[in-house]
Amino acid sequence: MIPMVDLQRQYQQLKPDIDAAVQDVLSQSQFILGLNVAALEKEIAAYHGRAFAIGVASGTDALLLALRACGICPGDEVITTPFTFIATAEVIALLQAVPVFVDIEPDTFNIDPEKIEQKITARTRAIIPVHLFGHPAAMTAVMGLAEKYKLKIIEDCAQAFGAEHHGKKVGAFGDCGCFSFFPSKNLAGYGDGGMIVTDDEQTAKKIRMLRNHGSSVRYHHSLIGYNSRLDEIQAAIIRVKFRYIDSFNASRRANARIYRTLLHKNGMALPTERLGCRHVYHQFTIRSARRDRIMAALQENGIASAVYYPVPLHRQEAFAGGDAAGDRLACAETCAGEVLSLPMFPELSQDEIRIICDVVNHVS
Ligand SMILES: *Cc1c(COP(=O)(O)O)cnc(C)c1O
Repeated sequence: MIPMVDLQRQYQQLKPDIDAAVQDVLSQSQFILGLNVAALEKEIAAYHGRAFAIGVASGTDALLLALRACGICPGDEVITTPFTFIATAEVIALLQAVPVFVDIEPDTFNIDPEKIEQKITARTRAIIPVHLFGHPAAMTAVMGLAEKYKLKIIEDCAQAFGAEHHGKKVGAFGDCGCFSFFPSKNLAGYGDGGMIVTDDEQTAKKIRMLRNHGSSVRYHHSLIGYNSRLDEIQAAIIRVKFRYIDSFNASRRANARIYRTLLHKNGMALPTERLGCRHVYHQFTIRSARRDRIMAALQENGIASAVYYPVPLHRQEAFAGGDAAGDRLACAETCAGEVLSLPMFPELSQDEIRIICDVVNHVS
């Protein structure tokens, strides 16, 4: 059996350090906003060359609090991609703002910068580019549009911790960069967690208040906020793993190279890495018209695979009543029918990749 991701392998490697870090939190017994959250915030801000980082309860909350801190109000339009996890657009709708979906590029699966401008209206306030599967979105073009139309940019970096666009880390471009520490993400805890990075002091201040019931002085509440703090035990675990993130990402890239060498193209599209981009392969996602047959063959051989994502967001029941329900976003719709993500994690072995590629290569 080869799984999509095996979290046990990494835990066994790091067990002494992780167990000690958790034990340390239990001994200190400062469970909410303790030393590990503060230290991780400093470390992650520095990694991205950002002035501020604020730990929150999940990647979803990172997006939600970033949108609120950027002043997104009911009725505002926020442009994003339909080919992403629901959370990206869910937070827009939660604020009673309007998600406006723009079609994607067929090779990176990210928002197509050429198609954004035609969807900008007088009510457009922000763009959420998603660095899907670990490949950076077209940030030069997106930042150009932000400048031209005075839009806020909130990067969804949930799948792309450590990815780079022309030498700059994703999350370092927009007004806010949002990360998830969900257990299967490239940098992850053993539960939920998230973080926002920003250079703007006022934005950072507002997010710090929002995550803690709108309060900066205990029992004095300036805003209606949330209970959305990053858990101290998770922060301690993530700090251990953060020391190895560049090496974990390097292992993912090495695994991607092995996949590329062994897979026969056979009408199949392999993941691209655009010039100047550093892909961190949260997923290794192929495209094929024979997707369902490949998936069945893998399953017969005890190999996991997954379709991210089978239904683009403008086709989701949850958005059925919305303005985007009738949109025709051809590339996203085609990709939904053809994508297949193969097992990918740093500890995946060369032998396992060989077995997977043998099965895929034999599907007619
Ligand atoms: C995982 C993910 C999120 C949400 O993160 P959670 O920590 O699960 O709330 C948001 N956007 C994308 C693209 C994701 O992959």
